[in-house]
Amino acid sequence: MVSETSDMSFLPYGRQTIEEDDVNAVISVLKSDFLTTGPAIPAFEKKLEQTVGASHAVLCNSGTAALHLAFKAIGLTQGDKVIVPAQTFVATASAAMHEGAEVILCDVDPSSGLMTAEYVKDALRKTAGPVKAICPVLLNGSSQGIDEVVDLAKSQDITVIIDACHALGGYYDEARIRRIGGNQAHVLTAFSFHPVKTIAMGEGGAVTTHSEDFAESMRSLRHHGIQRADFKGSLTQDYGAPWYHEFHSTAYNYRASDMQAALGLSQLAKLDRFVEGRRLLVAEYCTHFDGDPIITPVASIDDKHSAWHLMAVHLNFDKMKVDKIEVVKALKEKNIGTQVHYIPLQRQPLFERKDQQALTGADRYYQTILSLPLYPSMTKEDVAYVSASLKGITQKS
Ligand SMILES: *Cc1c(COP(=O)(O)O)cnc(C)c1O
Repeated sequence: MVSETSDMSFLPYGRQTIEEDDVNAVISVLKSDFLTTGPAIPAFEKKLEQTVGASHAVLCNSGTAALHLAFKAIGLTQGDKVIVPAQTFVATASAAMHEGAEVILCDVDPSSGLMTAEYVKDALRKTAGPVKAICPVLLNGSSQGIDEVVDLAKSQDITVIIDACHALGGYYDEARIRRIGGNQAHVLTAFSFHPVKTIAMGEGGAVTTHSEDFAESMRSLRHHGIQRADFKGSLTQDYGAPWYHEFHSTAYNYRASDMQAALGLSQLAKLDRFVEGRRLLVAEYCTHFDGDPIITPVASIDDKHSAWHLMAVHLNFDKMKVDKIEVVKALKEKNIGTQVHYIPLQRQPLFERKDQQALTGADRYYQTILSLPLYPSMTKEDVAYVSASLKGITQKS
């Protein structure tokens, strides 16, 4: 049987937007002298610093590596406690666990999925001993309540590592002046440039910070921990030789290539257009779902500071005859891709422990959430098609 949508291409929940000049940027690197650790790396870093208003940006090869570098830079070590929201991708937590830190999962608001200051206060009250870092996640690109979390952390002298993998291009404030990733004391911000994120590099990530010390430490850590000055070794006679370098600790190869950086640089010039494109599509979705008894978008189109990463909707299953698996399958048959962000971390074998507090907000968020297609090259017609399809499926009686 030929379905009514057989001639329509698949709409994934997210995808990159690569244009001719992006392709040419990569090709020119391929024809140049440096495929890695060449001029595209500092060029990208400088552009990212300017874009978000940070003193330093350190490029690396994934958002996960960025989070890990940030945790290393603040000196996270065995037994340190780190507060992470239960509604996030595993990397927010595992990057800290690599250093032997104890991850305290924090509950989130069941409608926004965000770890607000109230939930952080609650987690702090229940945690014995000092907390080294708080890691808010700007889920779906939303920065709602982030200032309060940062202020709370600062008041207790706790470092903040923001997982802004969803939020490049977003702002702290409604006036859209203070960019996510911009300078703030005691705050490091991690970004991802995976193809579904705001800009694509294939694989890539970065940390922005106000601190030269943190930046220098992360630049060394991403490149095997090489140090050229600062003599502490035993080869005194070779100190100052052209090849001279030292290793003081184990580190990583977290470098991005010049092909990736050139792609990122080309994409970064389009950041505002991409974010605005996403915002218009979210607004379109919201119009379609306005007044719907079953479908409620997580984002409010009045939220001026969002980066509009995901088109997440809550579905009211109490009023539906089908469950989430059936909805996802029915949409797939209509060439519509979806995803669930995320299975709460306390439900993962990595975290399941008997002593784990109930995290009901994270569970409730998970039960009703679904991410619909959202990326800048979608059309209004695509949005109308997805919206009508979802309505048809959810209202099936
Ligand atoms: C994508 C993502 C990461 C990891 O980024 P990678 O570049 O895929 O390593 C971490 N946290 C969140 C919230 C993400 O969405």
